Amino acid sequence: MSLPLLPDRTCGACVECCRAIPLDLPELAKPTGELCAYCVEAAGCSVHAIRPNTCRVWFCLWRVVELSDDWRPDRSGVIVRPDGIEDGVITLYVIRPSDFLASPDFFATVAGWIAEGVEVALSIPGPVGTYPARAVVTDWLRPAVEAGDPAAFLGRVLRSLDKLAEHDFQPDGVVARYAVA
Ligand code: SF4
Ligand code: SF4
Repeated sequence: MSLPLLPDRTCGACVECCRAIPLDLPELAKPTGELCAYCVEAAGCSVHAIRPNTCRVWFCLWRVVELSDDWRPDRSGVIVRPDGIEDGVITLYVIRPSDFLASPDFFATVAGWIAEGVEVALSIPGPVGTYPARAVVTDWLRPAVEAGDPAAFLGRVLRSLDKLAEHDFQPDGVVARYAVA
């Protein structure tokens, strides 16, 4: 998928997609949650000029839509996934719990999406090498959104994440292969 990027936004020190997103290509395969061996923490891709096409076209929605700087995934702990957006679904991939989930920014943004009719899903990673868990939570969050109640909203988000953590995470079957040359 290739979405138009915001012109003045760069990934900076964030490398979260190089860890969170699985790759299973002839030249590069890495299990879900394994930091790509070509990635230098806080610096980025060491094979940038010859990186696979998948890496060239995959960007989280923080690079695409006007979300605040606090939403950058390494700061927020939330990757806003691009897949599903054409179908009106936004998936918030919570790679680690953080205070950002309790912020007015997070509440106002997600509440705004739901109020506009966007479906919202929450997702969390399992152990390295397993598929993540994911559930659409729009209707579960809606009462707190309609009440304009950030505390109730946070409570529902956290209960959703706790429920997802009980998921039976299945192996993704990807065997690491680093052959970009
Ligand atoms: S090849 Fe580069 S861009 Fe692709 S996952 Fe590895 S470090 Fe990230
Ligand atoms: S998760 Fe988003 S901001 Fe972070 S490196 Fe990937 S595309 Fe850039």
